[in-house]
Amino acid sequence: MKIVIKVGTSTLAHATGKLNIRKTAELCRVISDLKNAGNEVVLVSSGAIGMGVGKLGLQSKPTDIPTKQAAAAVGQCELMYTYDRLFTEYNHTVAQILLTGDDFSAEDRHENFTNTITRLLELNALPIINENDTVATQEIKVGDNDTLSALVAVSVQADLLVILSDVDGLYSADPHKNADAKLIESVYAVTDETFEKAGGAGSALGTGGMKTKIKAAKICTESGCDVVIANGENPEILYDIVNGNQTGYTRFFAKKSL
Ligand code: GLU
Repeated sequence: MKIVIKVGTSTLAHATGKLNIRKTAELCRVISDLKNAGNEVVLVSSGAIGMGVGKLGLQSKPTDIPTKQAAAAVGQCELMYTYDRLFTEYNHTVAQILLTGDDFSAEDRHENFTNTITRLLELNALPIINENDTVATQEIKVGDNDTLSALVAVSVQADLLVILSDVDGLYSADPHKNADAKLIESVYAVTDETFEKAGGAGSALGTGGMKTKIKAAKICTESGCDVVIANGENPEILYDIVNGNQTGYTRFFAKKSL
């Protein structure tokens, strides 16, 4: 199976912006195992800005663009250093790809990107993708990694996109405000009603909320790729998701699999 896994800052870092060592190490172990079992995996990882905040000792996530981009430049190194170290323990080779919106809209750049990532997968490397935050301006950026992961999944013709988050999935109502809110485990069509169920806010260090995840689900399911939104609290949930054990998370079924 070809799987794109998107991991957010809420999984990788503590609220301080410092690395969550336990969760990140577990994530790398499980992904390595999924690769050992014969799956092709692409990781889309946020966390550059969050980790830059931690490493530079800033008090909170910056709001001005130059400081955000400076934090991303510092944090991206920290992120790849961490992945390289952890995946090397399991004999996997990581490759960094940084993209902006232009890399999807300009045909030649998109072709270069897909050729490179296809070759990396043939070479059994693990591509790790983030937005190129240090150069991405408002006009050209994808903007959030949920959407970025969906564009990547469609480009590589993945079977499955898994978005790991700090919530269990899509609820019938906002679970923070409504005690009766229920987890929706299967979604067969992304409609306006699905968007209404998604609240807005993301976490202190992350970027997207549920809306960008539903948008990602819409992009992928229309292109024949299933999407799962699951809690990254325990990365072993990836085994259940890949094996198709359908509880405790939300799966959006691709149009082709209906
Ligand atoms: N590219 C940003 C980062 O690495 C995050 C974007 C997002 O979380 O959606 O910090």
